[in-house]
Amino acid sequence: MTDYYEILGVPRDATPEQIKKAYRKLARTLHPDVAGAEGEERFKDVARAYEVLSSPEKRQQYDMGVDPSAPGGGAGGGFGNGFGFQDIFETFFGGGQPTGPVPRARRGNDSLVRLDIDLAEATFGVKRELQVDTAVVCSTCTGDGARPGTTSRTCDACHGRGSVQRVARSFLGQVMTTAPCSACGGFGTVIPEPCPDCSGEGRVRSRRTVTVNVPAGVDTGTRIKLSAQGETGPGGGPAGDLYVEIREKPHDTFVRRGDDLHCTLPVPMTAAALGTVLELDTLDGAQEIDIRPGTQPGQVVTLKGLGVGHLHNGGRGDLNVHIEVQVPTSLTDEQTDLLSKLAALRGEERPEPRLAAAHPGVFSRLRDKFSGR
Ligand SMILES: [Zn+2]
Ligand SMILES: [Zn+2]
Repeated sequence: MTDYYEILGVPRDATPEQIKKAYRKLARTLHPDVAGAEGEERFKDVARAYEVLSSPEKRQQYDMGVDPSAPGGGAGGGFGNGFGFQDIFETFFGGGQPTGPVPRARRGNDSLVRLDIDLAEATFGVKRELQVDTAVVCSTCTGDGARPGTTSRTCDACHGRGSVQRVARSFLGQVMTTAPCSACGGFGTVIPEPCPDCSGEGRVRSRRTVTVNVPAGVDTGTRIKLSAQGETGPGGGPAGDLYVEIREKPHDTFVRRGDDLHCTLPVPMTAAALGTVLELDTLDGAQEIDIRPGTQPGQVVTLKGLGVGHLHNGGRGDLNVHIEVQVPTSLTDEQTDLLSKLAALRGEERPEPRLAAAHPGVFSRLRDKFSGR
């Protein structure tokens, strides 16, 4: 038998106040929202220990050698998989009293689908149709699980209560416990003739087309919630939510950083020196870009508002064009002559080997390059 005192870390003669204090302390650190999946299992143990030890009757039963939170066995009966620990847990502990029959209609699960989009779609937003494989209401029985023309009826074994009293033997004598009814699975009703199309589940799997409006500014990992578009619940219960998780495909020329875009534009040395106007193919179509005379390698020309749309507050990021000045690698005789003349004109035939002043920016760029940032 599980040692609930040990789980809560309290002595066997602990006062109700000590038990409450120990539980609160553990619950804070182990709550699934704080400790994640790993904490969840221990949280359940702690919650179960507290439920038993905080109730004078249950604690007394437990001290007599009967675990009042152990399932009475046989849960589920003929009715499939919908009856997990949580249900038993809730049946037992909801408000400290058995909560009566479990409703057949329960909310369906949330679903998650992934959607690949390209950069232009992330920039401007897009409307997409998605094929979703999910549970929908069974049209044959409209969700109640009974063969058309028949209905469910009250369970004879528990008279609709969903739970049965049973006598558990302990070394100290007999103790009454409450357990979910195994004849009806805790539902309080049975379906004598289940619907042939859904086997009484009230729902069937089906492929559905869902339209999703992807807003501008989404990024890889963004989740779009489509309320009540997830799985229909068992017994015709309400549908869960559908989450569409965005995955943005990398673009051939543009790199996204937040809502700004970056690209590299190679410009011949002569054009960088003399200046020119180039036409650049952007996500917004051809845009003129003004290369000023004397443009330096690495210089950035910013095209305002041609980046990705901001997700929440409108407006758009910028497109940053990084200029890469290209130095010719092979020259004809005539070109060599011309460049030599230019060098002579500028007094640059034998340039002074003077180092530039150290600039922290250079080193952080180099460091970033080496560390792959
Ligand atoms: Zn059906
Ligand atoms: Zn029953």
